[in-house]
Amino acid sequence: MTPDLKNVDKLITTGSVDQRADALQKGKPATITNVMSIDLEEWFQVTNFEKVINRSDWERYPLRASNVMSILLDIFAEHNVRATFFTLGWVAQRYPKLIRRIHQAGHEIASHGYDHRLVTTMTPSEFRAQLLQSKDILEQILSSAVNGYRAPSYSFCNDTYWVVDELLEAGFLFDSSIFPFGPRRHPKLCVSRFPCLLPGKKGDLAEYPLSTLDWGGLNVPIAGGGYFRLLPYNIIWMGIRRLNYQRKAAIMYFHPWEFDPGQPRVTQASWLSKFRHYNNLDVNLSKFQRLIKDFRFASFKNVFWNKEKGKYDIQSQI
Ligand SMILES: [Zn+2]
Repeated sequence: MTPDLKNVDKLITTGSVDQRADALQKGKPATITNVMSIDLEEWFQVTNFEKVINRSDWERYPLRASNVMSILLDIFAEHNVRATFFTLGWVAQRYPKLIRRIHQAGHEIASHGYDHRLVTTMTPSEFRAQLLQSKDILEQILSSAVNGYRAPSYSFCNDTYWVVDELLEAGFLFDSSIFPFGPRRHPKLCVSRFPCLLPGKKGDLAEYPLSTLDWGGLNVPIAGGGYFRLLPYNIIWMGIRRLNYQRKAAIMYFHPWEFDPGQPRVTQASWLSKFRHYNNLDVNLSKFQRLIKDFRFASFKNVFWNKEKGKYDIQSQI
């Protein structure tokens, strides 16, 4: 039986939380594979703490991502999940064995730049240098091509459209740097909340925006990170179910430090920065495991690589 999309949509936007959950439970879920991505960076490298932790001091802080990654890789193996890991060049230099282990387990390795500098703070030539440095480090470790890029803190915006040509010129095949909600809406970059092609001088770049729930015209960010930790699981669940009913893959993201409640505390940061970073860290792993059990996940390559065309498609391939 095909689910009544109109009815499901109406209940999602107008009914109570219980009614909405009930309506979706009764429908027959579409068997859609969603995208799982991890931004592989350390706890002290986040934009949120940039004002109080200098890059020149990074060497002084203990590395913790490797231990968390072992836990995540075990969970992914147990549930047969493949993910895309957007990795900082700085991190890859310190964990080459881990990067190879991730790749050998069937996951996709992509670039998150070199040292988490925001795109908006760089000139095109500075961006190019960071991009090529990170790509080179990863490709040396893997002995295979790196196809995807994600800008630190989704800092790719209307004013930095030149990023498209820089990525194409450097041989990247896809980008996932747009989180289309609230002040992060990027109308010039992507006209929809869904995968699209961004035209460049030498071709098109496949763009995969992070998922939002359209709640009566308001885009609610359900894709992961601090929003996943803050929002009730029910909202995340409904958002993904709704996308899947529309035969769309949800695109999700997480960071290793979000599953590490024992990480050192950055006491000099502002109250808001600390709230954003530490909120619900202690319960996040169990929430994440629930998500992994409730939905299917795979990497960008698994979901969007079109074998016949030899490129990343904007239509799901599985
Ligand atoms: Zn990041």
